[in-house]
Amino acid sequence: MGSSSIIVYIPPVLFGLVALTFLVLRQQRIVTNWQWGAGFAQTALGFSLSTFPIEPTFDAFTSGMIFIGAAYCYSSAVFDHFQARSYDRERHWFVGAYTLLLVYFVFGLQSLRYQLFLTDIAFACLIGMALVSAFSKARRNADKWLVASIALVVVDTVARAGYFFFHTDGSDSFSDFVDSAYNLAVHVTTITICMTFPFSALVASGVAALERHREAAERDPLTSLFNRRGFEAALGGDGASDGAVLVCDIDHFKQINDTLGHAVGDAVIAAVADMLRQVSGDDAVTARFGGEEFVVFLPRRQLPEALASGERMRQTVCEKDWRFFGLTRTVTVSIDLVREGESDPHAAIARADRALYAAKAAGRNRVFQAGHEADANLSELASA
Ligand code: GH3
Ligand code: MG
Ligand code: MG
Repeated sequence: MGSSSIIVYIPPVLFGLVALTFLVLRQQRIVTNWQWGAGFAQTALGFSLSTFPIEPTFDAFTSGMIFIGAAYCYSSAVFDHFQARSYDRERHWFVGAYTLLLVYFVFGLQSLRYQLFLTDIAFACLIGMALVSAFSKARRNADKWLVASIALVVVDTVARAGYFFFHTDGSDSFSDFVDSAYNLAVHVTTITICMTFPFSALVASGVAALERHREAAERDPLTSLFNRRGFEAALGGDGASDGAVLVCDIDHFKQINDTLGHAVGDAVIAAVADMLRQVSGDDAVTARFGGEEFVVFLPRRQLPEALASGERMRQTVCEKDWRFFGLTRTVTVSIDLVREGESDPHAAIARADRALYAAKAAGRNRVFQAGHEADANLSELASA
């Protein structure tokens, strides 16, 4: 394969462009790690050495180190992407052992076959490690595509390494590398099947970033509960509108702010949020709507169940030991509840919100049912 062949220019340019794309995405903080960019930049550099060779032995050793550096970065990026344990120590030892063998094969044995076989197998081992840990963690389609692409690269690398090591009797001299059948095979498989790897990495990183941003836009940072937007999205299209809505407001919260400061107020809000989350159950949709006002949607709950949940919430908050927060009195909440099958939860929230005044007027620290303000204290009914 002479340098006049167009295909020698394709891998360095393509991998260079992908590296540049990752660099820009990282600067925009869309991609959180630098390892993807570094891995693809090194791959571009490694291919450049076979496109613009310098000196055969130097090229053999340098490209061996560059490709293993790329594999190291890829595996780090995959561990990071899937939030998996990264085996740093083991990988450092592995790269150390590889380097010693590479020195021996290049400068001692001076064997092109051994050098290529070693680098391919080490490359496949490093990204194979990442593949194994990513395999069970890939949930999104983009992640599955990434895992499949990594698997393709591993298979391609191992197959080529085995084929050229065991089944051909080509030259074993570094100076013949550029025009070797091996080099042609690397370019052809890289341009065809292996290019799916950088693009799947781009897509998987982009999808993960989008999900992070969506999550951030739909969550309240203080309590990690949904905000209003997240609440509406969660209730959105899943037909879960049949259920009970509870609107919960902390009593005399201004006093806490005024006497102990805003920071303590924030801590109280976060603590109440935690209690609501724990008490309301796994299928509940829990949100912080305003300052110290929360909305809980309990899907498919009938009135008695919903009242009991509301009562549990009220009691849990009221019975907590608040002295740790510097408070001398307990914190209480007033809760208003709407239970109307198939009703629009948003209308229910508005109704419960208005009815909250009744609970406040009736003395606070109680559970009310909207539309039944004249009833006796429902806290007492529910716990009876
Ligand atoms: P009530 O029993 O009638 O509910 O009395 P309240 O004092 O709790 O009255 P209200 O619900 O109107 O008080 C809301 C207060 O919450 C007003 C505002 O200063 C405070 N607040 C709103 N957002 C935050 C926040 O993020 N952190 C803190 N610390 N305070 C907040
Ligand atoms: Mg309040
Ligand atoms: Mg309020």
